[in-house]
Amino acid sequence: MPTPEADGVPGRRSRFPVVDPATGETFDGAPDQQPDELDDVVARARQAWGGWRADPAARTSALLGAADAVDAAGDDLARLLTREQGKPLAESYAEVARTAARLRYFAELAPRTRRIDDGRPVHSEIRWRSLGPVAAIVPWNFPLQLAAAKFAPALAAGNTMVLKPSPFTPLATRLLGSVLATALPEDVLTVVTGREPLGARLASHPGIRHVTFTGSVPTGRAVAGAAAASLARVTLELGGNDAAVLLDDVDVDGIADRLFWAAFRNCGQVCMAVKRVYVPARLHAGVVEALAQRAKAVTVGPGLDPGTRLGPVNNAPQLARVEQITERALADGARAASGGHRLDGPGYFFAPTVLTDVPPRSPVVTGEQFGPVLPVLPYGSLDEAVDAANGTGFGLGGSVWGTDLDRAEAVADRLECGTAWINHHAELSLHQPFAGVKDSGVGVAGGPWGLYGNLRPFVVHRPQEG
Ligand code: NAD
Repeated sequence: MPTPEADGVPGRRSRFPVVDPATGETFDGAPDQQPDELDDVVARARQAWGGWRADPAARTSALLGAADAVDAAGDDLARLLTREQGKPLAESYAEVARTAARLRYFAELAPRTRRIDDGRPVHSEIRWRSLGPVAAIVPWNFPLQLAAAKFAPALAAGNTMVLKPSPFTPLATRLLGSVLATALPEDVLTVVTGREPLGARLASHPGIRHVTFTGSVPTGRAVAGAAAASLARVTLELGGNDAAVLLDDVDVDGIADRLFWAAFRNCGQVCMAVKRVYVPARLHAGVVEALAQRAKAVTVGPGLDPGTRLGPVNNAPQLARVEQITERALADGARAASGGHRLDGPGYFFAPTVLTDVPPRSPVVTGEQFGPVLPVLPYGSLDEAVDAANGTGFGLGGSVWGTDLDRAEAVADRLECGTAWINHHAELSLHQPFAGVKDSGVGVAGGPWGLYGNLRPFVVHRPQEG
């Protein structure tokens, strides 16, 4: 139940609880802003747009100042992030560093004006214009870094932004908002917190010109529908079910650590985590064993404990989903080579789980577990493995693991996804485009493409003189 804030105005000033996933206890609250507050917020964002879009040099320097401010607040941001999200503190520090790095990268990126030369005696030039207030809606797995992936290119392009974090992780984003406010003009970036229908209202707000959303496929569909009301541009970065395909020349001992962490980092709560592993039948038992050994040995605990490598699942509904999908697999005939259950005691801990003998149509294979559970499946022919890897509605990432890199690359080329890695997974560069296919996304983020995704072309066309 929301607790009233000091001024106690009903509805408007209530707060909603924020839970520490390491204990399962509420440790703080955040303002439960109501949809009708958005009119004022968006109007202010529109007002601020006029000044912000006018001066690219001032924008660059403000965004670089914002990056410095994030670095300076690193300790507070990282600790709060771990407290509400659950991840090990070292990973929170890395997330804060990536937040600052995104600001710096986009601060220095400018769109290119281009002349069209098609042989006619006209002078046509493509210039780039910002869109207006942009709405960003983000999930709870990487609250700061995913927010930065949205505000850094949007603001660099000259837009203003209203940013809504997940109600499971509102606090570090609120703190980030106030840190950024020390370097940015007023109302250029506003963080709003609250429960649904706040996000739905933001996505359909007539003053918003671009809705950039990261989250699950069903919510992505709802957001696209909501944005249709105002025909705002939509960018959707949605769920994934990435496959790792191991080839018969793979060096199992050499890759096992990397493969394990590609699946279990952030407790498996990564859109492009490895969520299924396909292994040649003769290597299958060895791979299951190598992964299960690591799953049994890894230190699971509160993110603030120095020795922790894996924290809790972020929230109770997600823990229930992870438990359900695992129990369903076990009921379907799968066997847990490690884990397979919640951990006793307080907090949302789930034992790192490696599953074998999983029926290929079990939801843990066809859907998105988004938790510390990994099915490992044997295959006969390579075509069978590629068909299985491509055989879901998702298309975010994928990877191929083997010693002959040319052969691995030829297999990677057959994966239907936005990014395919060889002997790695989920390694991203700021410079590259990031785009899921099929149900995994619409539009392109990352690199210059991310900047252009926040701009519209404006063509000036005039006859040549003389
Ligand atoms: P979610 O879809 O439940 O929520 C995402 C955000 O949308 C939250 O801020 C939530 O409050 C908000 N929201 C909920 N209902 C809404 C509505 N009707 N209209 C507008 N906004 C609404 O996702 P989640 O559980 O927070 O995050 C996990 C999902 O995110 C996974 O599917 C994961 O794969 C995906 N994800 C994708 C990427 C990517 O880049 N492709 C990155 C991280 C996470």
